[in-house]
Amino acid sequence: MKQDQARPTPRAGIMDIEAYVPGKSTAPAGVTKVYKLSSNENPLGPSPKAIEAAREVAAKLDVYPDGTARRLREAIAEVHGLNPANIICSNGSDEILGLLAQTYLAPGDEAVFTEHAFMVYKIYIQAAGAKPVVVKETDERADVDAVLAAVTLKTRIVFLANPNNPTGTYLPFSEVRRLHAGLPKNVLLVLDAAYAEYVRRNDYEAGIELAGSAENVVMTRTFSKLGLGGARVGWMYGPAHIVDAINRVRGPFNVNATAIEAGIASIRDRAHLERSVLHNERWLAWVSAELTVLGLRVTPSVGNFVLIHFHDDKKHSAAAADDYLSQRGYILRRVTGYGFPNALRMSIGTEEANRGVVEALTTFLKS
Ligand SMILES: *Cc1c(COP(=O)(O)O)cnc(C)c1O
Repeated sequence: MKQDQARPTPRAGIMDIEAYVPGKSTAPAGVTKVYKLSSNENPLGPSPKAIEAAREVAAKLDVYPDGTARRLREAIAEVHGLNPANIICSNGSDEILGLLAQTYLAPGDEAVFTEHAFMVYKIYIQAAGAKPVVVKETDERADVDAVLAAVTLKTRIVFLANPNNPTGTYLPFSEVRRLHAGLPKNVLLVLDAAYAEYVRRNDYEAGIELAGSAENVVMTRTFSKLGLGGARVGWMYGPAHIVDAINRVRGPFNVNATAIEAGIASIRDRAHLERSVLHNERWLAWVSAELTVLGLRVTPSVGNFVLIHFHDDKKHSAAAADDYLSQRGYILRRVTGYGFPNALRMSIGTEEANRGVVEALTTFLKS
């Protein structure tokens, strides 16, 4: 009985959660032109077709959306060659990650993720009352043997961001298969493929085949990194029994009408996707090479961002660089919470933004 307490109290563990801190979006006062490179958004913006679709739906905002997001699931299924019945759409893929934790974790259970993994996993694991188990990485990359060694009888979920944010590193699919093969059948493997569209590697797979054949694998995806971060559209593909369970837990209208229409238009706009991926391919290589020439270590990335490591002297630390860049309108992401106190994550931006950051860092390092 808690009747002696003076006010409502959150469940045990909730107040231990460190709230997610999103990338900054503003520059110091007086800076006129701002380049937001802190949230891995698409520098080419949304698909023009998605903008048009969102405009059209605005006149019908009184009408509830289809609670099953059927047309969006069908559009995704068509593009990726999937069965729409095995897809669930969500309010960003964050929501589906939370629903998976809520559905498969109970107090006392454990869920595993790696040292520098996307931070949202830990939050949802704790919110479900379960124990986060953090596994060491090797060379800023998930280590399959270390993950398997961390699995116990209490483990219920393994979260793998592939590629990972904020490192940009990835596991070849042979490694993902090895991970899956080593997991007990009752452990759910969540393949978070938020950056799949950007990856240009022959040995990479997002996980469609594995999630389509195994009973304990789901793949999560998002529209956020391709131009719809503000619309909040994500999805999951997985076995029918998991779809069935999640559909019982999720909000009845979890994807709003604007997100549905913008999502449908966006995924059908293959030309916009291609432009976005080509832009990234070109500028990811350019930014990585230029920063390396400046003497900064850059973690090799296959995503739409790079992790830049700064020097040990205070004058040229990540914090100092962040100040210097912010004053010039370049907003990057501090990643101390991800275990990188002396690094910044930079989203690949427009040509102007990319050139501007390299130029600013050139003078910063000479200062
Ligand atoms: C951005 C991101 C997501 C989810 O983003 P949403 O906007 O919620 O779809 C999921 N995983 C990783 C690794 C990300 O970087």
